[in-house]
Amino acid sequence: MTLDATPDAPVVLYSHDMPAKALDPELRKARDAKVQIATISLCGCWGCNLSLLDTDEALVDLLSKVHITRSSFTDIKRIPGQIAVGLIEGGVANDENIETLEHFREHCDILIATGACAIWGGVPSMRNMHGLEPCLREAYIDSPTRPLQSPPVVPHHPDIPKLTRKVYPVHEVVKIDYSIPGCPPDGRTMFKVIDDLLSGRGFSMPAEYNRFD
Ligand code: SF4
Repeated sequence: MTLDATPDAPVVLYSHDMPAKALDPELRKARDAKVQIATISLCGCWGCNLSLLDTDEALVDLLSKVHITRSSFTDIKRIPGQIAVGLIEGGVANDENIETLEHFREHCDILIATGACAIWGGVPSMRNMHGLEPCLREAYIDSPTRPLQSPPVVPHHPDIPKLTRKVYPVHEVVKIDYSIPGCPPDGRTMFKVIDDLLSGRGFSMPAEYNRFD
């Protein structure tokens, strides 16, 4: 969105930079008293985030103890303060993923990689076996589903994040404290890890919670 743009001094204001309506002070106090947690989704399929929703009524109990700031549900882009626990879904596949992940590391005390994509690159990292150029060629130039009337072109624009040469697991970009395996991890596992951390308990992961669907 562009406000008051003139040829000399364009003012660009993105929706996530717009001033939000001030929160009710009581609501703000109640939120600030809870443990702050956040999630980000990098190059993944959102399945890990949905797994957290699978905890059903346990989620309601969890929300009495935590406030979820940045997440796929709130769509807040920037974290205003410090977060106790951050959960990451997806691997690192472009420059925007790197910037998002580094910002997240800076603002989270404990960082947890959730799911195969975040832990080792997962399905998106299958492109590493072929190289970036052949994958782009297959997707946009030689694709049998490309509309024949359109010129063969790989999309490019300054606003489109630049793909990294390889898809990286998140621990190759920032320090990660814990990992929750699975594709997606079982929602009960995600809930247990968060609940154990909040209660100051050590946690173990029962084998029956380990899930690769
Ligand atoms: S680990 Fe599985 S469920 Fe999670 S983002 Fe990757 S593909 Fe999706």
